[in-house]
Amino acid sequence: MFIYLDNAATTRVCPEAAQAALEVMTEGFGNPSSRYALGSAAAERLERDRAVVAAALGCLSEEVVFTSCGTEGDNWAIRAAVEHGRRKGKHIVTTAIEHAAVLEPIRALEREGYEVTWLRPDREGRISPQAVEDALRPDTVLVSMMLVNNELGTLLPVREAGEAIRRSGCPALLHTDAVQGFLKVPFTPAELGADLLTVSGHKVRAPKGVGALYIRKGLKLKPLLLGGGQERGLRPGTEPTAQIAALAAACAAWLPHREAYAAHMRAVKDRFLALAEERLSGAVVLSRGDAPHICALSLPGYPSEMLVRELGDRGICVSSGSACHRGKPSHVFAATGRPKRELMGALRVSFSPDSTAEEAEALVSALEEIRRARIPAGR
Ligand code: PLP
Repeated sequence: MFIYLDNAATTRVCPEAAQAALEVMTEGFGNPSSRYALGSAAAERLERDRAVVAAALGCLSEEVVFTSCGTEGDNWAIRAAVEHGRRKGKHIVTTAIEHAAVLEPIRALEREGYEVTWLRPDREGRISPQAVEDALRPDTVLVSMMLVNNELGTLLPVREAGEAIRRSGCPALLHTDAVQGFLKVPFTPAELGADLLTVSGHKVRAPKGVGALYIRKGLKLKPLLLGGGQERGLRPGTEPTAQIAALAAACAAWLPHREAYAAHMRAVKDRFLALAEERLSGAVVLSRGDAPHICALSLPGYPSEMLVRELGDRGICVSSGSACHRGKPSHVFAATGRPKRELMGALRVSFSPDSTAEEAEALVSALEEIRRARIPAGR
C-alpha cells in the first residue's frame, strides 16, 4: 500500500480508460487507414474519440490533433508558430517558469537568433498581465504561456495575454501549455484567445503516450512530421488508437464530475495545508495553488531530496519539483526569488479526485516524524 500524492507528475489510469484501451487493443485493433470493415470501424471510433476530447476541451473536433505527449505538442506548436510568423518578425514572449517542454525549444530558437523576452514571476509565482502587454512588439510572432504552473499550481494570465495581443495588433500567435489545467480549471481555447493549446493524457487518468494539440480552425500550420496522411497530414504515423480511446474514456469519465472533483481536490489540499501550518512549525507555504490539485510547501533546513526519499521509504509519493536536484532548486522555485533555505526544502504535493483527507493527514504525520528524527541542516 502506498499513498500517491504526486498527481501532477502522472496519474493512475482510471478503469474506464483501461477498459477502452483493452477493447481497442484486442477487438477493435484495425488500422484506421485499412479499407475493410475492421479498419473503417477503427476510423469511426477514432473520430468519435476525437469528438469526446474536443468536447472536453470546448472546441471543434477538427481543431484536435492527437500527439504522443505534452512535450511533443509543445515542441510542435512552438516550432510551427515561429515558422508561421517567419516573415513578420523574430521576437518571442514567454515566462521563466514554463515546463522544460517549452523552455528548451524556446532556448533553441534563442540560439538560432530569435530574441526572447522572459517574463519573471513574483514571490508567489504570478506573472503580471501588464508585463505581458509591455513585452509585445510589432515583431512578436509568438507568446507561449502555460495555463497552470506544474510546480506552484498558479494560474498564469493567458486570457489577458490573448486580449493584449488583439489590442496591440502584433502578429503573435498565442500558445498555451494547458497540460496541468486540462479538466482541472475551466477554460475553452476560444475564451483564452489561444491559437494553439497543448494537453497530455497521463495527467488526467489516461495512459502515457497520448496527448493532443488544439489548432485554431483556419490556422495553417506546418506538419510535425512528413509521412502518411494521418491526422490530416499534420501528424502522420499510424494513430495509437488504444491510447486515444483511453484518453477519450478518461475525459468522458471526468467531465460530468468536473466541478465536484475540483471541489474535492481543493478541500483535501486545504486540509493538508491547514494541518501542515498547525503541526509543522517553521514550514513555509510556497504556493497554495490557484488550481485545485497542486500546492508547494517548504521545510527550511530539511533538503527536499532527503524528504522525498524518507517519505518514499514510508510509502508516500510526493515530488521535490521538476528539476530539484544536485543541490539546486528547480528553475520554477528559483524564479520566485525566495531565500535559498526555503527553496532547498521545497515539496510539491498534488492531488487527484481519489485523494483523501486521511492521506493528507498521513503525509503531515510522516513529515512530523522525519523532522523529529533529523537535525535541520544549515541552522
Ligand atoms: N507541460 C507541463 C506543464 C507538464 O507538467 C508536463 C509534464 O510534467 C509537460 C508539459 C510534459 O508532458 P508529457 O509528460 O506528456 O510530455
